[in-house]
Amino acid sequence: MKRISVMGTGYVGLVTGVCFAELGYEVSCVDIDKQKIEDLKKGISPIYEPGIETLLVKNIKKGRIKFFNNTEEGIAHADVIFIAVGTPSKKDGTVETKYIERAAEEIGRNMRKYAVVINKSTVPVGTGERVAKILEKHAKVKFDVVSNPEFLREGQAISDFLKPDRVVIGVPLGRAKKIMQELYSLIKTEILFTDVRTAEMIKYASNAYLAVSISFINSLSELCEKIGANVDEVALGMKLDQRIGKRAFLNAGPGYGGSCFPKDVKGLISTARKYDTELPLLNVTEEINKRQGDRVLAKVVGLVKGLHGKKVAVWGLAFKPETDDLRESPAVRLVEDLLSAGAEVVCFDPVAEANGRQLFPQITFSNNSLGMLKDADCLVIMTEWKQFREITLLQIKKNIGRANIVDARNIYKKAEAEALGFHYEGIGQ
Ligand code: NAD
Repeated sequence: MKRISVMGTGYVGLVTGVCFAELGYEVSCVDIDKQKIEDLKKGISPIYEPGIETLLVKNIKKGRIKFFNNTEEGIAHADVIFIAVGTPSKKDGTVETKYIERAAEEIGRNMRKYAVVINKSTVPVGTGERVAKILEKHAKVKFDVVSNPEFLREGQAISDFLKPDRVVIGVPLGRAKKIMQELYSLIKTEILFTDVRTAEMIKYASNAYLAVSISFINSLSELCEKIGANVDEVALGMKLDQRIGKRAFLNAGPGYGGSCFPKDVKGLISTARKYDTELPLLNVTEEINKRQGDRVLAKVVGLVKGLHGKKVAVWGLAFKPETDDLRESPAVRLVEDLLSAGAEVVCFDPVAEANGRQLFPQITFSNNSLGMLKDADCLVIMTEWKQFREITLLQIKKNIGRANIVDARNIYKKAEAEALGFHYEGIGQ
C-alpha cells in the first residue's frame, strides 16, 4: 500500500490525511505551524469539523497517522505527496501562490526517491507546470506532478472526502496515473481523468458556478420582496426542473462567503485577465454579493432607525453552520459595519466564538441565545445553526427588548413573525 505525505494540516490537509489513514494508508502530515503539530500529536484538532477528532484519535492509536514539523522526516518514505497549503487572494485579487512554491521547494530538497506530487490546493491554471519546474530545480530524483483538486465542504468534510460526488485527477499518462488509480481505489465514486490544466480549471469553474447560482437567487430575492413573491418557493419550483436539479445551490441569504468562493471567483477573474480575456458574469456575481451584504445592513438600519448606541444581537458568526471558519463570512462584515456605525454588538456562535474573540475583542459574546436578547433593539440571524432553528418566535418575543428581526437565513416566516407583532425582514420574503 502506498505511503502518503500531506503538506499543510488546515481544513483540507488534515481531512485528507485523516481520511486516507481511515482507509488504511500510512500517512505523515507536515505543517510549518509548530503549535498545530503539537496539538495534533495529542489528538487535538486545530479546526472544528464534525467527526474529525474521533477519526484523528483512532488513527493515531492505530499508528496510521503521524505529524511532523519538518519536511525531511515528514516526506522521507512517501510514494505520494499532497500539497494542501493555503492559496489566499492577494490585495489585487490574484492568487497568492508563495505557500505552494515554498512547499514545492521543500519537497524538492528533501525527496529521496520517486514520488507523485499532487496539488490538492486550489491553484491557478499553470501551477502544476510551475511546481514541476521548482521540483526539477531542487530534486535529485524523478517525480510526476498531478492536479487533484478538493471539493469538500466544511461542516461535512469527512463524508464529502470519503463519499465524494466525483474525484478529478489531472495527470499525465503512465506511472502516475496508475498510482492515482490505486490510491483512490477504495473510494467508490466516478473518477474523471484529465490533463493537469483542465483539472485545475474544473475546480475554479465549479466554485465560480456555485457563486453565480447564489448571486442569481440573491438578485431575485430583491425583486421578490418588491413584487410580493417568496424567493425560497421560487427556488423550490426551479429545482424541480431536472435540468436545474434538487441539489442546485439556490439558497438566498446574506451572500456567499467562506475561504473558497470569494477568493476563487477573484482568482478566476484574474486568470482571465492574465490571458487577455474577461469573465463579465463573474464581475456581476461579485457586485451582487456585495450588494446583498449591504441590503442586510440596510434592513437593520431600517428597523432600528439609526445604529448609534443601539444594541444589536447577532446569531452566528461563521460563514455557515458546522464550521468555525470566519474567513470572508458575511456575518463578520456585518459586525464590522455595525461597529463602525456605533452600535453595541452581542454575538453568539456555538463554535466560532474563539476565532470571533480574536477578530472582535470589543464585542460581547454570549452562549445564551435568548438571554442575550435582553434590551436588544434588533436580532440579526446570520448563520443557520440548528440550535437557532429550534427556538420559536414566541420565545424570542418574550426575551427581546424591541421586536425587530432581520433574518438573513429565512429560518422564520414573515407572516408568522408579523402575526406575533414583530417588525420582520427576511430575504426575498
Ligand atoms: P488552511 O489555511 O486551513 O491550511 C493551510 C495550512 O498549510 C496551514 O496550517 C499552514 O500552516 C500550512 N502551511 C503553509 N505552508 C506550508 C508549508 N510550506 N509546509 C507545510 N505546511 C504549510 O487552508 P485550507 O482551508 O485547508 O485550504 C487549503 C487549500 O485547499 C486552498 O488552496 C483552498 O482553496 C483549498 N480548498 C479549501 C477548502 C475548504 O473548505 N477550506 C475546500 C476545497 C479546497
